[in-house]
Amino acid sequence: MTEKFQAPRTDSMRAAIEAERVRLLYAGLPLAVVSNALLAVALALLLWRTSEPIKATLWLAALGTTLLLRAGLALAHRRQPATPATSDIWLTRFRLGTLATGLAWGLVSILLFPDGDVESQMFLAFAMTGLMAGAMASLSVDMTALAAFTTPFVLPLLARLLGEDSDISLATAVTMAAFALFMVFSARRFSAAEHGNLRLHQEMVWREDALKRYAFIVNTVADMMSVLNREHRYEAVNDTWCEMLMRPREEVIGKGIAEVWGEDTAARFIVPPLQRCFAEGVPVSLRSTVELALLGARTCDITYYPFEQTPGEVSHVVTVTRDVTELAESQQALIQARDAAETGSHAKSEFLASMSHELRTPLNAILGFAQLFGADPELSEDARDNAREIERAGEHLLALINDMIDLARIEAGRMDLAIGPVTLGEVLADGLALAAPLADKRGIELTRGSGEKAPVTVRADYLRLRQVVLNFLSNAIKYNRPHGKVILSCRRLDGHVRVSVADTGRGIPADKQSRIFNAFDRLGAERGEVEGTGIGLVITKRIVEAMGGRIGFESVEGQGSTFWVELPTIEAEESEEAAVADTAHASAGAPPPSPGVVAPRAANVLYIEDNPLNLRLMQQAFQTWPGWRLHSAHTAEIGLALIRAEPPDLILMDINLPGMNGFEALAALRADPATASIPVIAVTANAMKGDREQALAAGFDAYFSKPLNIPDLQRAIDQALAAPDA
Ligand code: ADP
Repeated sequence: MTEKFQAPRTDSMRAAIEAERVRLLYAGLPLAVVSNALLAVALALLLWRTSEPIKATLWLAALGTTLLLRAGLALAHRRQPATPATSDIWLTRFRLGTLATGLAWGLVSILLFPDGDVESQMFLAFAMTGLMAGAMASLSVDMTALAAFTTPFVLPLLARLLGEDSDISLATAVTMAAFALFMVFSARRFSAAEHGNLRLHQEMVWREDALKRYAFIVNTVADMMSVLNREHRYEAVNDTWCEMLMRPREEVIGKGIAEVWGEDTAARFIVPPLQRCFAEGVPVSLRSTVELALLGARTCDITYYPFEQTPGEVSHVVTVTRDVTELAESQQALIQARDAAETGSHAKSEFLASMSHELRTPLNAILGFAQLFGADPELSEDARDNAREIERAGEHLLALINDMIDLARIEAGRMDLAIGPVTLGEVLADGLALAAPLADKRGIELTRGSGEKAPVTVRADYLRLRQVVLNFLSNAIKYNRPHGKVILSCRRLDGHVRVSVADTGRGIPADKQSRIFNAFDRLGAERGEVEGTGIGLVITKRIVEAMGGRIGFESVEGQGSTFWVELPTIEAEESEEAAVADTAHASAGAPPPSPGVVAPRAANVLYIEDNPLNLRLMQQAFQTWPGWRLHSAHTAEIGLALIRAEPPDLILMDINLPGMNGFEALAALRADPATASIPVIAVTANAMKGDREQALAAGFDAYFSKPLNIPDLQRAIDQALAAPDA
């Protein structure tokens, strides 16, 4: 802070001092002119008698002219005083004026010197010495002007005196010369002192201006500011401080904090930070509620800044108090909004989970019964067709529900990916196998293109990547022409691999291509025969981007389309890991492989299920599988009692049960040695992401989500019963 109050020693400062000096010279001018005139009149009266009147008149005229000239100069300067820019020219004018007057005075010794009249000579010398003394007072700020004025009249006079043949004249000349010498020395000292004064004055002016500017800044800020000394007394406060606390400055300056704020408030809230700031010499900040007379209780950020007058010693503390009430309120509102958003998104995913359950349970029953009717040889062909129609529509509805739930979950930011090394070849083979039935049905030739043969490992989520490939394949099949072709290929690029699906279908018109990734936009396909939801590609794009990949397509109307996805590859050393990870995925995601094992003996199966429709469906399915007996319980508690009374060979367990849920029931079974080894298969409508993993981790032997694929379930039961520990 202090160095900012140091006046800058710059050219502008020098120019300001120079202008001040010139102004000072001009200030002495009127007095000089008047005293010169008076002296001239006195001298003329004396010399009139001894000299020729014509010469005296001439001299008076010459001197009068120079004096008038200088008077005019003084007037002109008064009207337009010297500024740093014009001081040079004013100085020159001044010096010329003084030179002219000096020369005029010199004429006295040349024209009017009283030869032989010692008395008059003495008077002349006395007058000239007085003139010199006067000049020293008024011209010492400018040595040049002083010299220009005095030299022209001192030298001729000295010469004339020395030329006189008289001791007194000689003595007068010597005295005068000595005085002139003395004058030169004093004038120089005087001039230096004067110059110093001028500089000090100039600096003071500058400091005063600077202080005014800083005071202006301090008073315009919206923060309250004050300066406290070591006795905890106010030394300064800014305008904002006075306004906010409604206290005039005079009333506060010199008062202690206890007088201003009250003993209690000062001791509790102000003294501790103030003392810390004085003691440690570091700024101390805090937020607190301050009672402002103008606005009432406000939330303020207060900072105590240490101020060191001499380095290392805190002499004052400057406090800056900022009213942050609005800011604090909006921060609070933001926090509340964030909490609300978190609760909202939690509620949304809860809704999704229960919605998924509520929709799938009845649909499971519809599809299950339709499957049974469709395969029932006792029904008429028409009835079986109708049942298959129900099944087909149900499948479509299920696809729609699944897609919508998937999209809603992704939109809610709930796509939990299990990213890891994935062997690309397995995903592609899986995708081809899953798409094959659809291709067969539509008479489309589905092939693996030439290209990358070496095993490629990518960083992805196995199931999600399979979903992407399957979406591409099924679109390529669905939107193909009769007997069209679909080629799945992959090509390694630098650090990436590109998987593409090319078809020979109708293609996508150029003007519609920009809409392809818009949700529910089927680009006119909704009017055709092909079933779809219009959200497959949206989901696909989100998945690919979440896995750090890129998606794109090329399409020519009437010729076909190629959809591709690019994913980052992983190098060899991670591939073993990949193999392990893939096996885990395959068992979790792909349908269990057919073991080719037939149940060796009749077995008891207990189905714990609260939904009567699902129970009836399962009972009907079991009727067609000879040798198995299905028992049931509609709560886990009843189920456990039955199991303990007569342990079954296998348990099918719903997860969402009234009272004890499926997980708790499983834990109870595993905890009891008598029931610990009975295989338990989870059968649930809870098909949220992660449910399968959670169920398998909890110890279920297999996991089936509704709607059930009955042949798959049958195989899983076979397998579980064939296992050595069953
Ligand atoms: P859906 O197939 O369920 O309608 P998608 O999001 O998978 O939804 O695809 C959006 C639209 O893009 C489709 O309705 C179709 O018009 C168009 N489309 C997608 N793939 C192809 C393709 N391979 N050939 C031609 N059109 C396609």
